[in-house]
Order: sequence, then C-alpha cells, then structure tokens
Amino acid sequence: MTWGLIGQERAVAALTGALAGGRIAHAYLFVGPERVGKHTLALKLAQALNCEREEPPCGECNPCRRIAAGVHADVQTVTVEEGEEGVQKGIHISQIREVERVTALKPFEGRSRVVIIDPAEEMNAAAQNAFLKTLEEPPPQVVFVLLAADESRLLPTIRSRCRRLELRLPAVADVEAVLLERGVDGEQGRLLARLSRGRVGWALEMADDPSLLERRRESLSRARALATMSVAERLGLAERLAPEFRRDPVALLAELEAWRDWWRDVLLVQAGAEDGVANVDRLAELREDGARLRRDGVAAFVRAVGEAGRYLGENAQPRLVLETLLLGAPAAAQPAPRR
Ligand SMILES: [Zn+2]
Repeated sequence: MTWGLIGQERAVAALTGALAGGRIAHAYLFVGPERVGKHTLALKLAQALNCEREEPPCGECNPCRRIAAGVHADVQTVTVEEGEEGVQKGIHISQIREVERVTALKPFEGRSRVVIIDPAEEMNAAAQNAFLKTLEEPPPQVVFVLLAADESRLLPTIRSRCRRLELRLPAVADVEAVLLERGVDGEQGRLLARLSRGRVGWALEMADDPSLLERRRESLSRARALATMSVAERLGLAERLAPEFRRDPVALLAELEAWRDWWRDVLLVQAGAEDGVANVDRLAELREDGARLRRDGVAAFVRAVGEAGRYLGENAQPRLVLETLLLGAPAAAQPAPRR
C-alpha cells in the first residue's frame, strides 16, 4: 500500500502498523519543516480511518474522495484565521472551544472524526491550555493530529499526550524523480530539486508557475546587491520593504527566504562545500561573493535573516526589524556597519 508520500516511509509505516493492529492513538504530533507533507499525511490518516475499501486509504471510495476534496463533515483543519491587514494572530481559544463542541458529537458520516491543528504551535497560551483539557479526556471516535514545525512552542504536557512522528525532508534525488514524473523537464527538474532542499510541495509550486522562479531570480539579485549598498541605501530599502510586508507578508517572507538561501550558499562555497549548494545555476556568482566577503559576517547575516523572519511573524515593527537586518548585511570592501 502506498500513501504517495515521498521520503516519509518511516512515518507511514508507523501509521499503517497502528491501523492494522487497531492501535491508533487519540492524538498525534507530526513534526517537520514547512511543506514537507505534514498536512497531506494527516489527510491520508483521516482517509485510512474512514475508507470503505479493503486497503485503506484507497483514495477512490466516497469518503476518501470527500476527505481529499476537503468536504467531509468529520474531517476539519483548525488553522490561523487572517486578521486585519492580513496580519496573523495565532489560533484562538474560541477556535478550540468550537473543536470541543464538535468533538463531543458523534461523527456525522464516517467512523472517525479527525481534527487537524495546523500549525499547532500557533495556538496561543489560552488555546493550548484549553486544548490540554480536551486531550486529558479525549472524546471517543476522535483523532487529533497536531502539525508543528517548531514543537518547542507547544506545552510539554500537550506533547507528552501525543504520539510523535517525525517527517524528514526527502533526498534531492527523490524530489527530482517526482518532478520528472510530473513532466518537468530534466534540466529544470534538477535545479528545482536542488533549490527545494527536499520540499516537494515547494518544488511543484515552482514548476507549475514559472513566474515564481523569475521572482526568485530577482530576489537573489537583490540579496547579492545588499553587499554593495551604502548605509543610506540600506535604510531606504528597509523603508520601501516595510509597507510591502503589511500588504503581502507572504511575499516578503519569501524574499527573506531567498536571501537566506543565497547567503547560506555563499557560506557553503567559503567552507569548500560546493556540493551542498542549492543555487547550482549560479555557482560563479556564489564564488565571487565568497571570495570578497568575510565569512563571519556572512554567517551572522544568515542567522539574522532567520531571526528577522521570526520577529516579523510575531508582529514586531517591520521597519525596525528590516533596518536592523539590512544594516547587518555583509559589506564588500569595508567592515560590516554596526548599530
Ligand atoms: Zn477509500
């Protein structure tokens, strides 16, 4: 039986074993990086629990199809609701109360109700405490599936009540094979597989929409240009990007991700580890940057970009975060400016 998940054989084996032995837990915690397939795996589990055929999940019976389409009455995903101006404010206690209310009822159409919380670490403190109560006395015929990239933000008492399964990034070769299968041509498939760092979903998104790849190219050029910007230019860029974050936070976070990828590649080149470089099509430029910039400055910036993304996610002042970040970007032919 295949669940169609690339590189997640261990997690799938744990679930199929539990299903076969009737040992499905009340609550699961799927841990793994963004877009690794946590939500897909949760839906497969929901299908397997409600499938009407002999080899669940068949993917073809009525419940399997309804779950895949997101219209099955007993399978729901609780997620962050967009607030004003698209600023995300976490998963609220009112959403958990609604889960409590619904899970007290018998499943409407299937055998098992499945509640997916995604991302679970976005539950705020009040929501986590309320959810803990639910986990302490789990309602029958309900399976909770918590999805998390950063499990450290969950209460230890929640974690200890869930069966934990880890999803790992698949190997580059596996991603490449999937892309080829979907008709992406060889050269582009190879590049996207490398760039994806194992995130199949990301690679498929890029393959489907060439404009995303073009936007990424522009982001990488801006990442490079940072090194030759004056302090005034850096402050000007922060001023322009801050309102962009309010308008389209996802796009700005993607920009930061591209910057981090670029400078992480520069670090790899500096460390003599070119094999691990993601941007294989731009090796010459990576070498150039590697030769002209100080390694400790590059390493500090890679860390700072990650932190900036997190601060922005936590509603810090975008302009302040971006100014601090940009002033600390590696600088060619002069010491990195300090604040
Ligand atoms: Zn089925």
